[in-house]
Amino acid sequence: MELPFAESYKIKMVEAIRKSTREERDKWIKEAGYNVFNLTSEQVCIDLLTDSGTGAMSDRQWSAMMLGDESYAGASSYHNLKDAIRSITGFEWFLPTHQGRAAENVLFSTLVKKGDIVPGNSHFDTTKGHIEFRKASAVDCTVDAAFDTSADYPFKGNIDLLKLEDVLNEYPPERIPFVIVTVTCNTSGGQPVSMDNLRAVREMANRYGVPVIFDAARFAENAYFIKKREKLYADRTIREIVLEMFTYADAMTMSSKKDAIVNMGGFIAFRKEKWFREASLYNIMFEGFITYGGMSGRDMNALARGLEEGTEFDYLDTRVRQVEYLGNKLKGYGIPVQNPIGGHAVFVDAGRFLPHLPREEFVAQALVVELYREAGVRATEIGTLLADRDPVSRENRYPAVEYVRLAIPRRVYTNNHMDVVAAAMKNIHERRNDIRRGYNIINEAPIMRHFTVELKPARK
Ligand SMILES: *Cc1c(COP(=O)(O)O)cnc(C)c1O
Repeated sequence: MELPFAESYKIKMVEAIRKSTREERDKWIKEAGYNVFNLTSEQVCIDLLTDSGTGAMSDRQWSAMMLGDESYAGASSYHNLKDAIRSITGFEWFLPTHQGRAAENVLFSTLVKKGDIVPGNSHFDTTKGHIEFRKASAVDCTVDAAFDTSADYPFKGNIDLLKLEDVLNEYPPERIPFVIVTVTCNTSGGQPVSMDNLRAVREMANRYGVPVIFDAARFAENAYFIKKREKLYADRTIREIVLEMFTYADAMTMSSKKDAIVNMGGFIAFRKEKWFREASLYNIMFEGFITYGGMSGRDMNALARGLEEGTEFDYLDTRVRQVEYLGNKLKGYGIPVQNPIGGHAVFVDAGRFLPHLPREEFVAQALVVELYREAGVRATEIGTLLADRDPVSRENRYPAVEYVRLAIPRRVYTNNHMDVVAAAMKNIHERRNDIRRGYNIINEAPIMRHFTVELKPARK
């Protein structure tokens, strides 16, 4: 008999989960204004709100923390991190920051100005926020296949080269500070970008004299998919693939809370000293001195170790297979999800799940609330609530797909937990026609409303 697949680690420390009853959850979600961000973590049984900063560190990461050097300048932890970044990404220069959006803030302060155009593949919301905050615009050039959840295209994070070329032709290079490629593409469902596409984007950008930056939060999961799906790379190691990927970029921003498996941290890495020098100024102003930038020595040590572990094949295989396990279970139950299953999360297509609900009633949020009630599982809405209002007309923006994202923390839950999530979704799917109404907004903030919004059930 062929031996089954098993996780590449064993468990050394555990945290208790508080179970709850349906009556308790009905009460709590009402008190939370039907917004899962307002729940306390004790009110949640399985927390799939995000995979950001929610991973479990390894024994080696915890022991690296004890060796943290808390010197203000030139700490050994800084040099450990510099060495890890250089050997894994190939970038010579780097600045630590406290998380990914801080890296964006520092780098964009040097590169983005009013009126600029930044093409990319479905920019992440903080990335877009930092572009729009500077009165510049993000232009989405993702391939069309990304927006059809039933299409089985292997690299739905890819940039559509025709769309990119249109943007590069339309605006002069002075107005395009860089092309940004998000690997994997979070917004389209944790979907990878192929090596072939990264190379082609680089070549096109070179022809137009425009730099390329990677938003690299999930670069290792992207490399795993390249190995699995791009024939030429089947026999290459993850580290070799990662090194080649980064040869196509001039710089990268990193949220270390994702593929580097730490609870807090980020960095910017650069090929050229010039950008590093310019960005150092903003790093010192916003984050801290250039050898710690918002991170303590122990955190830099844990991050250095996390970068090593996060780029090991066996770890990535365990990680991505768990996400796939949940996705396949859901598909087996007839639940519509983004295909193929992404790297960090399963994206449920709520519009196809609850087609009878009007979009003005926040279909994906209705499913998020049902899932919490059913099993205490906390997911996130990636739909009309998140898409927010148009800044000018103040009308709701309706995204191409109403998603419920089930983000899987790294090394935290077992497949038994995944079975519970899938069973809960199946139960809801079976009674989907009884879900007759969505939600209306009672209170909302002028931007980023999804974090604090308060809702009430819509009347019919
Ligand atoms: C999380 C994330 C960011 C922002 O990072 P934070 O650490 O949350 O500030 C940027 N880009 C992508 C693709 C992300 O997933």
